[in-house]
Amino acid sequence: MSSDEKKQKGLTRRDFVKGTAAGVAGGLVAGAAGTALAAQKAQPKPWLPAKWDYKADMIVLGAGSAGQMAAIEAHDKGAKVLLVEMAPSPYFSESSCCGGLASVPRNPMQIKEGILDDSPDLLYEDMMKVGQYSNRTDILRLFVDNELEAFTRFWELGAKPITNSFLAGHSRKRTVAHLNRQCQEALYGQIKKRGISTLFNTRATRLVTDYPTARVLGIEAMQGVTPPDYKGGKKIFIQGKVTVLATGGMCGSPEMLKKYAPRVEALAAWAEPGPPGTLKIPEGPARPLGLGDGYKMGMAIGADTTHMYCITMYTGTPVGPDAPGYGRTYTPTFKTMLDDTFYNAIAVNKEGKRFISEYRALCDVGEAMVQQPGKFLCVIADKTLYDASVKANIMGLSPPRIIKLAEEGKIPVWFGNTIEELAVKAGLDPAGLQKTVTNWNKYVDDGVDPEFGRSMKPPSRAYKILTPPFVAMKWVIVPLHNGGGLRANTRLQILDVYGNVIPGLYGAGEIIGGTCGEVYLSSTHWPVAVTFGYLVGKTFAIGEALAKKG
Ligand SMILES: Cc1cc2nc3c(=O)[nH]c(=O)nc-3n(C[C@H](O)[C@H](O)[C@H](O)COP(=O)(O)OP(=O)(O)OC[C@H]3O[C@@H](n4cnc5c(N)ncnc54)[C@H](O)[C@@H]3O)c2cc1C
Repeated sequence: MSSDEKKQKGLTRRDFVKGTAAGVAGGLVAGAAGTALAAQKAQPKPWLPAKWDYKADMIVLGAGSAGQMAAIEAHDKGAKVLLVEMAPSPYFSESSCCGGLASVPRNPMQIKEGILDDSPDLLYEDMMKVGQYSNRTDILRLFVDNELEAFTRFWELGAKPITNSFLAGHSRKRTVAHLNRQCQEALYGQIKKRGISTLFNTRATRLVTDYPTARVLGIEAMQGVTPPDYKGGKKIFIQGKVTVLATGGMCGSPEMLKKYAPRVEALAAWAEPGPPGTLKIPEGPARPLGLGDGYKMGMAIGADTTHMYCITMYTGTPVGPDAPGYGRTYTPTFKTMLDDTFYNAIAVNKEGKRFISEYRALCDVGEAMVQQPGKFLCVIADKTLYDASVKANIMGLSPPRIIKLAEEGKIPVWFGNTIEELAVKAGLDPAGLQKTVTNWNKYVDDGVDPEFGRSMKPPSRAYKILTPPFVAMKWVIVPLHNGGGLRANTRLQILDVYGNVIPGLYGAGEIIGGTCGEVYLSSTHWPVAVTFGYLVGKTFAIGEALAKKG
């Protein structure tokens, strides 16, 4: 035992608590420097815990796609990995609740279909365009250049690609559908098969740093936390040669949204876990976790942030107070009526006016909604389109439960025998809506949308609004996930506010900010998690994790 360790052992519980509170809670940064230095003379390293409850080469925080990929890859390279997850299982993450869509240029299904002209460069361009050219280009490059390799591994590990389809905002047909739950099960199966140590119900609360070097030495966590509040538990300390933050985003935290994206907080409607496999998760949560813990832990030790206000604003129909499931206010039901791929209706604001090409990427529509009076939209369709959408029930997005609620008037969907009647019921301007519908029907006849340039040709489809009853359904903003987060370099090391690497700290997944820029291009966020998790575990953090001490 070293003399340092002996001295540490000799610390009283009181000293330990005092030292830990000072060191761990941020005494490591400028403010408390004087006190801490004085303490250091008297007592070597009083900022460290008296004992580490667990030790690992690599601590991975969060068992989503990023965390599990990192853990598997690092384990396979010989590292002793400890995966720490606050939920009772890996099925509470965004990854397990997401739509399972991943846009992967040169994916095998695309190649089989004969689409040979796609490339990482084209995806890069598409993401830059939707991201309004504000993306962190180095991080974006890292993603697009490594995505296919990471997904090839993901599929080898048991995640099953289902179909390849076209999604608005993408210049090529390259979006691979998966069942979210199936993918998480495959990854967790690999974790169990390898015997990778995992602590569930354990919420990381702080990063423990070495005072003189600012190196991350491990974490403080609360063991034994349970849903729904994840509070309480017993304090433990875990030592790791490297720590990987893979704790996901912050859209499950009204407090974080209010602080970093106030324009969204005011509108927040909570997301029900996404389609389609999620609804089958018996132990799944009302909504995925995304409490922003990783951002807070990073910021507390000086990590820099980027794009924190950039929230992925999906849109969907809120379920009303008298409907089952109220409080989980968003359902993607009827999305297909406006959605990119299938049956395209029109969208209007409170004045009954269209305000964007409905064929734009869904998150562009969400962004445009924020600028509209009342900050909502109504999808307008007629009987023909409504019937087609309900019948198609594409990806299970129009389940009978929701159709019944709509027809009973329990969710904000209205029917009218005339456009005027519909507008009055839906609270829209009747004259405005009538004019919009008349114009729209003419545009369909002419094959040109002179207002917003929406394509009238497949894969976009344009239907005239002719046959009563007419339908209006209200959509609200749904902050699902976020594009902002901690700043990282191209080795996914977390940077401090001066641009220096925080030694021993890496990130993967939604914790890393800036890949998507201002606006998220659908089906690129989950792939970022898979790709960055893969890279951190296999390449970037493994050297440090396996390094011999001293
Ligand atoms: C409904 C929905 C649908 C979506 N659909 C798509 C889609 O189709 N395509 C796409 O590209 N993107 C989609 N996304 C976004 C995508 O799912 C996420 O960006 C991605 O899954 C994030 O992965 P991650 O591993 O970084 O985080 P997560 O999967 O969220 O995992 C983070 C894990 O960390 C745990 N954790 C958090 N804090 C702590 C702590 N303090 N201590 C210990 N553990 C902690 C959480 O419990 C969680 O299990 C969707 C998101 C949602 C919510």
